[in-house]
Amino acid sequence: MSDYIIRGTAASGQVRFFAATTRELVEEARRIHGLSRVCTAALGRLLTGGAMMGAMCKNDTDVLTLQIQCDGPIGGLVVTADARANVKGYAIRPTVEIPPKKDNKEKLDVGGVVGNGVLHVIKDIGLKEPYVGQSNLVSGEIAEDLTTYFAVSEQIPTAVCLGVLVDKDDSVKQAGGFIIQMLPDGDKGVDMDALADMLELRLAAFVSITGLMEDGMVPETMMEALFQDYDVVIHDKLEAKYACNCSKERVEGAIASIGRKDIQEMIEEGKPIEVKCHFCNKNYVFDVEDLKQILSYDEE
Ligand code: ZN
Repeated sequence: MSDYIIRGTAASGQVRFFAATTRELVEEARRIHGLSRVCTAALGRLLTGGAMMGAMCKNDTDVLTLQIQCDGPIGGLVVTADARANVKGYAIRPTVEIPPKKDNKEKLDVGGVVGNGVLHVIKDIGLKEPYVGQSNLVSGEIAEDLTTYFAVSEQIPTAVCLGVLVDKDDSVKQAGGFIIQMLPDGDKGVDMDALADMLELRLAAFVSITGLMEDGMVPETMMEALFQDYDVVIHDKLEAKYACNCSKERVEGAIASIGRKDIQEMIEEGKPIEVKCHFCNKNYVFDVEDLKQILSYDEE
């Protein structure tokens, strides 16, 4: 497997972690959406964070959606992931490009293309109403915004690190990230303050996750380097991939929800309609007979 997420714990179970390598799936998103360099970095970071947050879900059928509403040129981002590390996403304006950061010409200006806004986290765990949490964006750099979400909305001390390195030919050279969370203190003989201090120092050294990946680091060795003398236990490894589960039936459901009157109008116009999936760009065509069929379901 080329892209994967590891789940594990460290320091006698006082910390849990998720670490991912996601180059292939970010490249797939770039190919599907024709993402610009800065949009590859922005959506790639959110896909990586979303894939790991999906892997935090308890049940296989849980679905997590991260939605960023923002005033920057990208116009907004959506990522959906499930508990098995299937992830998909899109940007409202995927091809917009802005200059790199002024202070560092090597760095794509993700914060600049995202701007100010709000992050919504929607967890569908099969209940009637999904759980919805939100927090304001702090920098638009995605990792910091997710860190703030965990602190504000879920009250869990969390460190999120995400990176996407875009190559000279615009393809994705490296992508990955990790999320570490301090779990509520138990009496396990671990000095939590010392652990927190050590992590703060080590995290400061992890400024460029893609730089470490360029040096040959993988999620496993990254977690060992991060936790050093504290024991690291890897519980499992999930294959991560870009996957869309759209179907004509699902799109039919979306058409049905726009209302009888509008569907009737489309039928009267007598032309087939095309509906494109935002996530994978697959085109679904509904001719007049299909539309009549949708109306007839509605009557039942
Ligand atoms: Zn699709």
